[in-house]
Amino acid sequence: MNLNDDIVKIKGIGPKSASYFYKLGIKTVRDLLYYFPRKYDVFSECINPCEEHEDALVSIKGKVMNEGKPIRVRNLSITNVKIMTGNEVMKITFFNMPYIKNVLKLNSVHIFHGYLRKNKTGYYMEQPRIFKEDEYGFMLHEMQPVYPVTTGITSNKIRAAVEQVRQSIAMVDEILPQELLDEYNIMPIHMAIEQMHFPKDFDMFAMARKRFAFVEFLQFLLSVKMMKAKMRYLNTLYPMVETGETKRVIEGLPYKLTNAQQRVWGEICDDLQGDKVVNRMVQGDVGSGKTIVAFLAMIMTASNGYQAAMMAPTEVLARQHFDQMKALIEKHHFNFKVCLLTGSTTAKDRKVILQEIENGSISIVIGTHAVFQDTVTYHKLALAITDEQHRFGVKQREQLVKKGVTTNVIVMSATPIPRSLAMILYSDMNLSAVDEMPQGRIPIKNCVVEDSYRDTAHNFILKEIAKGRQAYIICPMIEESETVDAQNVIEYYEKLKAKLPEHIRVGLLHGKMKNEEKNRIMEHFAAREIDILVSTTVIEVGINVPNATVMMVENAERFGLASLHQLRGRVGRGKEQSYCIFINGKKDKKQNERLDILLHSNDGFEIANRDLKLRGPGDITGIAQSGDIPFIHGDIYQDEEILKIADEVSERIVNDESRVEKFQPFFMSLLQDGNNKVDFRTI
Ligand code: ADP
Ligand code: MG
Repeated sequence: MNLNDDIVKIKGIGPKSASYFYKLGIKTVRDLLYYFPRKYDVFSECINPCEEHEDALVSIKGKVMNEGKPIRVRNLSITNVKIMTGNEVMKITFFNMPYIKNVLKLNSVHIFHGYLRKNKTGYYMEQPRIFKEDEYGFMLHEMQPVYPVTTGITSNKIRAAVEQVRQSIAMVDEILPQELLDEYNIMPIHMAIEQMHFPKDFDMFAMARKRFAFVEFLQFLLSVKMMKAKMRYLNTLYPMVETGETKRVIEGLPYKLTNAQQRVWGEICDDLQGDKVVNRMVQGDVGSGKTIVAFLAMIMTASNGYQAAMMAPTEVLARQHFDQMKALIEKHHFNFKVCLLTGSTTAKDRKVILQEIENGSISIVIGTHAVFQDTVTYHKLALAITDEQHRFGVKQREQLVKKGVTTNVIVMSATPIPRSLAMILYSDMNLSAVDEMPQGRIPIKNCVVEDSYRDTAHNFILKEIAKGRQAYIICPMIEESETVDAQNVIEYYEKLKAKLPEHIRVGLLHGKMKNEEKNRIMEHFAAREIDILVSTTVIEVGINVPNATVMMVENAERFGLASLHQLRGRVGRGKEQSYCIFINGKKDKKQNERLDILLHSNDGFEIANRDLKLRGPGDITGIAQSGDIPFIHGDIYQDEEILKIADEVSERIVNDESRVEKFQPFFMSLLQDGNNKVDFRTI
């Protein structure tokens, strides 16, 4: 088969199943070969249930003792069977798999692979994978790939398809020069693809992954270096001087800027007064007070007669920034105008706003992606800021730079990256760190508890509400409904409303809502018209409602620690004591240990580092992913060495006169790659 052949040509894939592959972004044989497993299961010898293995992923051999008749509980179909293993009887439960009874015939013997749990009545397993004995024997000790899936397609189906096209791996072209492979001991492409799908052992897999991480880093670093080359020598078209406006704002704040804020503001202020185009990254943990620094920069720009624009990742956050900026301008009677521009700005308003941006009568534009779309023409865009850069990608950063060649750029990020790595990843920018928290914050009180504590937590929230405070309750995304036990946000909201006294005002917010509705809810919450906001992580970024003092997170085990840290950052912003309650839905020791990290640290850097140490070496799912670290294979923490090599190589490529010849296949592959991050025609 050819690499560009449509996957319907593969044996066993008809038009119907092809449609599911398409959904996963797999259209051709090549796509399939590059569709790598999410993790690998290693099947070990069967064990007998015992304390030592509690909460671990294990395999158990057992004989089916009863026919599993599915029963319906609300909208769920539940099938329970008892199995005899050694001389223990164990319960096995399946959700929404009524057909499983045809497999688990009375007296048949199977291997059950899943998490071993224990409750009052004894050991049990939920949703285990089932194998025939001989089938299991073949797989013993092998690394079995588990592919990311969507409804309608299983990991096994993908695996079978990959098997069918295994021969075609040989047709993939090597894109890296041989000398590079030799010098850094990088696995050649054929072997690497082969080992990702059919790893011989862990070491071989690690080598394969290293290769893909390397290529990914190299692409990224080259794109960064290209941007740097473009920016470095540009003289600014927008000379500025420090103005009285920013001083007045600083003096009028209800607090004193921290030393870190003053230092970073000083750096930015110098930048803007310099004669070169500014490109600066402002890093600072959640709650360190980055917003005001960005505002000062925008006010300085506006008072110099230019325009400034700020892009936030969500409409809710954009609106909040807009309200704050508007209040500042009104308070100080500044003679410039701010506007809000988002996807839900009405066509009528939009028309007026676009005109005013174009003729320069609006000085400050705050919004979402809409701010930097092609339809927006600026009069004199001197400063572009992205808030919560980690939610955007490099692409947006480029787009932003393109908006005006000599537009000064400031990006703000809360992603915890050690300085040494930041210097590599953001080598095209100057770095500023808001590395100090505002004084007088009362440390947040945290706890990690089991679901049995839920009622107590709700009562606790009621007490806080009685004191005039507000609370957030976060449930995992509504999209993630494949797992039965995850709290569904809508259902949760309904139940909570029914359960709590009538005068308690409960609000609901999730990503599937229309933007206007999201805005309305957030405004109600900010205006204290909602006491408890039940939400998904749409709330995670940036939101600032200082009166909220409780953050309760359901199924906390399903979130990354970085997300949980961000969520926690939503409280503890006011003068009152704040609380964070993480509900651990899985009685899993490892999860407890992981969540424990949050109890003992409130420092984003430390949390990221300790999270990393807890991860096993083969644990590729835990990789921190965010917009400004857009790596699928590489993990900047785990793969620091590879990152450094990629940095070295990218530097060499940029300075190598013969690069176009030597790296031709590599450059070509990037151009073909839809997500072509680098425009190599410019180097
Ligand atoms: P982040 O860095 O996460 O974007 P914000 O800019 O939203 O943080 O600031 C968090 C909260 O801290 C806001 O309510 C803000 O008004 C407040 N704040 C900012 N700087 C200070 C300071 N120096 N002293 C006290 N509070 C501050
Ligand atoms: Mg912020």
